[in-house]
Amino acid sequence: MHTVLVTGANRGLGLEFCRQYAEAGWRVLAACRDPDNSKALHGLAKRHGGLEIHALDVADHAAIDRLAEELRGRAVDVLLNNAGVYGDNDQNDFGSMDYGLWEQVLRINTLGPVKMAEAFLPHVLRGERKLVVAVTSLMGSMADNSSGHSLMYRSSKAALNAAVRSLALDLRPRGVGFLLVHPGWVQTDMGGANAPLQAEESVRGMRQQVEHFDLRHSGEFVNYLGKPLAW
Ligand code: NDP
Repeated sequence: MHTVLVTGANRGLGLEFCRQYAEAGWRVLAACRDPDNSKALHGLAKRHGGLEIHALDVADHAAIDRLAEELRGRAVDVLLNNAGVYGDNDQNDFGSMDYGLWEQVLRINTLGPVKMAEAFLPHVLRGERKLVVAVTSLMGSMADNSSGHSLMYRSSKAALNAAVRSLALDLRPRGVGFLLVHPGWVQTDMGGANAPLQAEESVRGMRQQVEHFDLRHSGEFVNYLGKPLAW
C-alpha cells in the first residue's frame, strides 16, 4: 500500500486529495492545523481506516520536526505540499504593505514546503515513489504576469518554484523527484465561487501527474493536465 502525506488537509484541494487517495486505497497521513475542528476530515477517517489525522502548522518548523520524528521509520511515497495562503489584500497593497503578513506568507508558501522536504527526506527515501509535490500557482510565473498586484502571493510562489527547481537538481542523484504543479483556477475558499474548475477535477488531474511522474522531468512546472508552464 502506498502512502501520501498531505498538508492543509482539512479543506479545499487538500481535503479532496485525501478523499481521492483514500478511495484509491492509499494510506493517507492527513496533516492540518486544527484537527479538532476538521469535521470533514474526521468523516473521511471514519469511512477509510487507512486515513490518519495529524496536527501540523507548516509555519512551525519545530512542529514539522516533531511530526517527522513521530513518523520516524515510516515510508512516505508522495509528500504533497498543498497548504498555502494568499495573504494580499489587493485593495490596499502597494502604499500600505503589511510586511509582517508578507513574511508569514513566505514562511507558509515557500519555507514550509522546503522544510517539509528536509524533515521528511528519510521517509521519502523509504518510499517506492520518492516524490515530493509542491502545489504552486501560475501566479508565480513572471511570464504570465500581465495584471500586476498580489505581490505577496506571486513572490511566495515564484520563490517556491525557484527553490524546488534547485532541490530537484540537487536530489536527483538520490532518486528523489519533485513536481511543481498548478491546480488550475479552482472553486475553493482561496479560488472563490467564480473559478471554472471543481476541486474534484483538478485533483484528479494532479493525481494523474503524480501517477505518470518520471524522474527525468523532475523540477518541471506544469498544470493539473501536465501542460508545461513558463517560469
Ligand atoms: P484553501 O484556502 O481552500 O485551503 C488552504 C489550506 O491550507 C487549508 O487547509 C488551510 O488550513 C491550509 N493552511 C494555510 N496555512 C497553513 C499553515 N500554516 N499550516 C498548515 N496548513 C495551512 O485553498 P486551496 O485548497 O485552494 O489551495 C491549496 C493550494 O493550492 C495552495 O497552495 C494554493 O496556493 C494553491 N492554489 C490554489 C488555486 C485555486 O484556484 N484554488 C490556484 C493556484 C494554486 P486552515 O483551514 O487551518 O486555514
